[in-house]
Amino acid sequence: RAAALSAYRDLPAITRDGTAMSLMLNVGLALELDQLERTGADGIGLYRTEIAALAAGGIPDVAGQAAEYGRVMDRAGGRPVMFRTLDLGADKLLPGEASGGEENPAMGWRSLRVGLDRPAILRRQLRALLLGAQGRPLSVMFPMVATVEEFRAARDLLEAEAARIRPVPERLEAGTMLEVPALLFQLPGLLAEADFVSVGTNDLMQFLFAADRGTPELAERYDTLSSPVLEMLERLVAACNEAGVPLSVCGEAAGRPMDALVFAAMGVRTLSMSGNAILPVKALLVEADLNELRPVLRELRRSGAAGGSIREPLTAWAREH
Ligand code: PEP
Ligand code: MG
Repeated sequence: RAAALSAYRDLPAITRDGTAMSLMLNVGLALELDQLERTGADGIGLYRTEIAALAAGGIPDVAGQAAEYGRVMDRAGGRPVMFRTLDLGADKLLPGEASGGEENPAMGWRSLRVGLDRPAILRRQLRALLLGAQGRPLSVMFPMVATVEEFRAARDLLEAEAARIRPVPERLEAGTMLEVPALLFQLPGLLAEADFVSVGTNDLMQFLFAADRGTPELAERYDTLSSPVLEMLERLVAACNEAGVPLSVCGEAAGRPMDALVFAAMGVRTLSMSGNAILPVKALLVEADLNELRPVLRELRRSGAAGGSIREPLTAWAREH
């Protein structure tokens, strides 16, 4: 099966109806960069910068970070890389960094919230990204953004650093992860300012359904292919298209073939996923006709129970076709 899947490596991810999809990698550890060649991914849609800090037991200095980011870009060889700034806290704690006794650390003082309150750390990282880029195009993505003001404050820090560093990147993009539901109700303001949006399905699902992402008892309870999520995604795709802002979906759901297929049918064109998911997702997408799928989706959504998932009937339909 692995041999059969590897045949898809050099094939473009184009569906039977001619829709070109961009399949990108989620990367944390340097050794995962091998996946670029092994999977033929179109780039790195999510580079989790906190993973190296967690592995090293602390945040490297600016030179260390810049060297790391430069190496990642070298390996990507001109393919796009979305660098996400440190997403520490909650499930990603540095040694000696207590969770501060918070009752709900996932919703606590973490991630960009720390970056904005302790801007020295964030500014050092942004400087390292600019230095690592060495004039190449640079895309920076901020995690756990809850308000347009937070995004603007983070982007302002990036621009302040960019004004001081030479060479300036050929292109500098600031984007946001969409993980906090409140952002869904600030789309006009957000899309006027963000260069791209990436849906973090792990955290967005956690906060949409108030369901801890690490609790096994809840793992099967709420589904990305249920009406609240699909309706959210439908509106988001429409808003991003209207504003001309590129949208991607990352997180575990993007790497599940059936979910990826539905996201594609709903107009998502970029998916970012773990390395082992790229070829199975591509294998399904290249066999799919989205024009054939759309009316089926519409009918399943119309007739389905409120809040219910279309996964089972959709999987049955996909098997038949
Ligand atoms: C997410 O929340 O979906 C995501 C991609 O980020 P992480 O899993 O690193 O929180
Ligand atoms: Mg997240």
